[in-house]
Amino acid sequence: MTTTPDTGALATLTSGCPVHLPGDPGYDAATTPWNLSVEQRPAAVAVPRTVDQVRDVVRAAAAAGLKVAPQSTGHGAAALGEHSLEDVVLVRMHELTGVSVDPAAGTVRVLGGTLWQDVVAAAAAHGRSVLHGSAGDVAVVGYALSGGLSFFARRHGVAANSVRAVEVVTPHGELRRASAEEHRDLFWALRGGGAGNFGVVVAVELGLLPYADVFAGMLLWDRERAPEVVRAWVEWTRTAPDSATTSLRVMSFPPLPELPPFLSGRDLVVVDGAILEDDERAAEVLSPLRALAPEMDTFGRIPAPALLGVHMDPPEPSPAVGDHSVLGELDDAAVEAFLAQVGPGTRSGLMSAELRHLGGQLARPVAGGGVLSSVSGEYALLCIAMAPTPQAAVAGRAAAFAVNRAMSAWSRVSLVPTFAETRVDASRFYDAHDWAALCRVRDEVDPDRVLLANHPL
Ligand SMILES: Cc1cc2nc3c(=O)[nH]c(=O)nc-3n(C[C@H](O)[C@H](O)[C@H](O)COP(=O)(O)OP(=O)(O)OC[C@H]3O[C@@H](n4cnc5c(N)ncnc54)[C@H](O)[C@@H]3O)c2cc1C
Repeated sequence: MTTTPDTGALATLTSGCPVHLPGDPGYDAATTPWNLSVEQRPAAVAVPRTVDQVRDVVRAAAAAGLKVAPQSTGHGAAALGEHSLEDVVLVRMHELTGVSVDPAAGTVRVLGGTLWQDVVAAAAAHGRSVLHGSAGDVAVVGYALSGGLSFFARRHGVAANSVRAVEVVTPHGELRRASAEEHRDLFWALRGGGAGNFGVVVAVELGLLPYADVFAGMLLWDRERAPEVVRAWVEWTRTAPDSATTSLRVMSFPPLPELPPFLSGRDLVVVDGAILEDDERAAEVLSPLRALAPEMDTFGRIPAPALLGVHMDPPEPSPAVGDHSVLGELDDAAVEAFLAQVGPGTRSGLMSAELRHLGGQLARPVAGGGVLSSVSGEYALLCIAMAPTPQAAVAGRAAAFAVNRAMSAWSRVSLVPTFAETRVDASRFYDAHDWAALCRVRDEVDPDRVLLANHPL
């Protein structure tokens, strides 16, 4: 027998916390995720401003027979959007933000809905940086507790390895602090197991990196040059030092007045990233790619916060769909297969087909690390299409899938959680032993399956 969820009771019980029900004036704005291709229609949406409000909402949701889906920005909304949300309270965390840096301890504490751009700015004020991703408006929690691939990754590993402690409201409404000393199994599971599988995270503590500035930038060519550039980059990645973390993208932009002329209406191949060396050594590392005479070369020493602009991510919420796989070594046939999909003369319909270089420290499991302290494979393939209409979303998904399928001879079973745009079998993020242990922690923390993450265990 199914019970009808009592959403009215939810609104009453959480009187201190804004809760919007369908039809309320605030409902549409509060349920709109960063990824505008996803429509979220939960039973209710709560926007807590305090930890106590989070606890009230979680308890009230459980009492009303509803599930709880935490969400910070909705960058990862596509996979969550494949679940029915009709019996779910979406807990949007964007009002619970804040950053405090402890330079002496070399750590930064951020509240549950905080964006990377705010952490990067606060760390930079002390001459430090953090293992942020390419976009400043991604939230710390969704990214770092699902692994997190930064442009420092081949030197420093996944962002989850920099997590020192996590404060989480469990499905029973209890506040737990998980660290190397307290709730150690939960701490292990949270570092890569996806925060939303274990509770609503209200704060995380991260280690700082000693970088005030960084050698970083991009090289850009017309897509006609893709055959030589893709071959050369793949060859270069085989011996690139761990200090260099780069991505290669074949990109297509419609002619739009808001785009700069070097992007508008163009098909391009772009290599970008960071090289953690002094200027002389970094230039030496980059020289084989510079020898290909890019049309633009912005690589140079920049203040650490400027790294957030290097990858040219959309500056505001956007509608996008995508597909992902992890690839092993790429031989000549692999490069040909990639070019046959997105090289000169093709019309894939994708905005971007990206190969993110893995390996280095990413490949080395860390003693005392979490469930995802390393990532296997040589490259993460991520294909993205803009999806302003449902028809464009269908076509975009098919286009992204087609490129991944064309590369399947080189793909691994594993997937990178933060790049998994669609609903996937989450066991593919972990090895079999860790998967079983992770599910045991989930069973202990959430025996009644109150929580709904974007990638449920
Ligand atoms: C433009 C763009 C650039 C990106 N660049 C990178 C990159 O360089 N490297 C990389 O690894 N990834 C990157 N990503 C992927 C990104 O890391 C994931 O989409 C990540 O899930 C986003 O986290 P979020 O909290 O902002 O998103 P959300 O959609 O808000 O969260 C995703 C999931 O995380 C969980 N979650 C979020 N907040 C909480 C919370 N407070 N408590 C409990 N659970 C929570 C939930 O299960 C939620 O469904 C990028 C994505 C985009 C769109």
